[in-house]
Amino acid sequence: MSDTSTQPLSAIGGEFINPEREASFQSERLPEKFRHLRLLFLLSAFLNTLFLVSDWRFEGTSHFYIAVPARLVVIAIALGCYFATQRVAGFRYAERVMLTWEWINALAVGFLVSSHSDLALFVVIMLPSIYYLVVPTSFRWSVASGVGCSLIMLVGYMSPEDLRSNLIGLILAMVMLNVALILVVARSNRLRRLEWLALLAERRAKEQLAESRTMFETLFRTVPLPLVVVKVDGSIVNFNNAAVAFFGASREVLGIQSILEIYANPEDRDAYLEVLRREGRTSDFETTMRVADGSIRNVLLAGTRLELGGSSYIISALVDITERKAAEERVWRAASHDPLTDLPNRALFQSRFEQALAEAEHKGHAVSLLLIDLDDFKSINDALGHDAGDTFLQEMARRLRGLVRIGDTVARLGGDEFVVILESQTTHENTVSFVKQVIDELQRPFVYKGENISGRASIGIAIYPDHDTKPSDLLKDADLALYSAKAQGRNRAVVYAPEMRDRMERRDTLAREIQEAVAQNQIVPYYQPKVNLITGETIGFEALARWVHPTQGLMTPTLFATAFEDAELSILVGEHMIRRVAEDIRNWHAKGVACGRVAVNLSTAQFNWVGLAKRFLEIIRRAGVEPRHLEIEITETVFLGRSSLHVATVLQQFHDSGVRIALDDFGTGYASLIHLKQFPVDDIKIDQSFIKDVEHNTESAAIVNAVLDLGRSLEMEVIAEGVETEGQARFLRDRGCIYVQGNLYAHPMPASEVGAFLARDKRRIA
Ligand code: C2E
Ligand code: CA
Ligand code: CA
Repeated sequence: MSDTSTQPLSAIGGEFINPEREASFQSERLPEKFRHLRLLFLLSAFLNTLFLVSDWRFEGTSHFYIAVPARLVVIAIALGCYFATQRVAGFRYAERVMLTWEWINALAVGFLVSSHSDLALFVVIMLPSIYYLVVPTSFRWSVASGVGCSLIMLVGYMSPEDLRSNLIGLILAMVMLNVALILVVARSNRLRRLEWLALLAERRAKEQLAESRTMFETLFRTVPLPLVVVKVDGSIVNFNNAAVAFFGASREVLGIQSILEIYANPEDRDAYLEVLRREGRTSDFETTMRVADGSIRNVLLAGTRLELGGSSYIISALVDITERKAAEERVWRAASHDPLTDLPNRALFQSRFEQALAEAEHKGHAVSLLLIDLDDFKSINDALGHDAGDTFLQEMARRLRGLVRIGDTVARLGGDEFVVILESQTTHENTVSFVKQVIDELQRPFVYKGENISGRASIGIAIYPDHDTKPSDLLKDADLALYSAKAQGRNRAVVYAPEMRDRMERRDTLAREIQEAVAQNQIVPYYQPKVNLITGETIGFEALARWVHPTQGLMTPTLFATAFEDAELSILVGEHMIRRVAEDIRNWHAKGVACGRVAVNLSTAQFNWVGLAKRFLEIIRRAGVEPRHLEIEITETVFLGRSSLHVATVLQQFHDSGVRIALDDFGTGYASLIHLKQFPVDDIKIDQSFIKDVEHNTESAAIVNAVLDLGRSLEMEVIAEGVETEGQARFLRDRGCIYVQGNLYAHPMPASEVGAFLARDKRRIA
């Protein structure tokens, strides 16, 4: 029945089968045992001393001489063992002391009980019982000592008498006593050991519990992740070391009771609780928290709800994602913002614009889109350098940002193009007044290294939902309006109108046709002579563009003005004209035709290109024509527009090469006389509108007179153009005007007729 693996106790003695375990059981109880033994020894010494006195009643009998020495031995061995147990050594030692006492004591008492007194019988029964029950020897020795003691007692008690009739009874009684005591000892051994085992198990469990609690607490305290334990009401239960480091101070120093004081937005805490209530746990709740130095950190919370002892707790791990957020923000900014001005770039503008329109549709309000193009930017860049250009753009961006309200967007689309999404001003009137502010604000002079730069801007406006509803359509509308603003002379704002689309389409078609015409050589110069009024001689020609159209015949520039106004076309057509003129001059020279100086018109749009003079001169040089055979005609608008900053450079290059410079249409523009001094102008051409009524209109006559005087005093030659009648010619001659041009002398003619013209009219040039 018994199994040693589950039942480690011996079946008979109730002791541990494993000697080591038995030894450890015994040694653990040793100090207590020694205490009991010492008490036993003292008691034995004391009682026997008392009995020694009573032994005097045997004085005179033979037993007296047995009793007293035996009693003294009992007392002596008790005292000896008492002192021997003062020193606590191992169980074996203790057992040896006990056995010594037991056996010597038993022998001495054996003599004493031979007195056969009533007390003696009591002792015969009691002493083996004490050996079994009180003296803690091993089971073997308990049995040996118990049985031995019983025998000695029997022998002692019976010795003085002959065998008596009650001997058998006493022996039986002693056997019964021994058997009973052995059973009791075995049983108590077993019980005590089982109790000890249970105690050990309990102690181990307690130790393990304490150990795991210490481990958990150490872990909680030292884990490098900030952990916070709070109750549902927000009161803080525990912070770990990492949390103290994260918050910059302990809870006590921070002086906070509730976690609510840590949240930068306390309503986040409600949202967090809600997530935990719904899902029990979360690992990615983002919020912001305030730390000891007052700064706000971005935090990722991973939390769990715990039910412990009837209350709810929330344990949260905090991950500081401030740096990560900042890095994300930097990446996002780099991808969505223009590095120069820090304004949103085209990509961000597009998504904001879509958002704005979606919201406007939802709420039913208007959104205005302003496309802003800085008029002078290219020339600032060309004339003052890229640093100036950059600074200028930054300044314009700053000013625009200063004008808009929260909710509006200013973005840079690239180059000198900005855009404003106006969501805060929803009426037309507000938009108009805002646009006025923009124009005024940009125009405010900006000083860069002593240079006064003015930021004129052309603005195209499209309004949702009046003009269109789709972002791409609105952008196109604003672009058309911007084009129109530029065409109307720049530095103004134009609101989109549906006709602009048609006009734009027509213009696009025309532009394509013009390109085609250039490629097909359909655009050719016609030449109109410039004449000396006094001698009647032709001194040179003005080259005028004509489009020899396959179906519509000969077209004058009024029908294809775009060719000279558009930035790209004007370069293309301009180069084509110069090339053709240079070829014609070379051909005339080759044939011996002296054509004089030939003037070529340069439009203001062509001056956008800083390389204009170099290219022009290169073309004529390649054609083998010297610059002194050429003149350029420019109008006053070149001094005003966005190219004005590098106009001086280009004109100087022409002048230095020997090309003459004539100021065309003089009197119609806005140029001040300062321009005449500032720039290397050689000739002035009086506009034909003054010549037309010079005989009848005193104002025109006065202007013509003034210009003639001006020419004389500045030593410039003055040419009157559009002379159609003899009367006009006479008037001019009388006023001392020498050079004229007009239909009175000749209409513009193709190059092929120039030789014949010069020969026929004998107006040879000297
Ligand atoms: P513009 O430079 O003032 O040219 C003089 C214009 O007056 C020419 O018109 C010419 O045909 C016209 N004209 C000459 N004599 C008379 C006259 O007695 N009576 C009247 N009513 N008109 C006369 P066109 O050729 O139609 O040129 C118009 C404008 O087109 C020119 O004005 C010039 O600004 C521009 N243009 C012409 N060719 C070119 C060119 O090759 N390049 C550039 N950039 N502009 C050009
Ligand atoms: Ca001209
Ligand atoms: Ca003219």
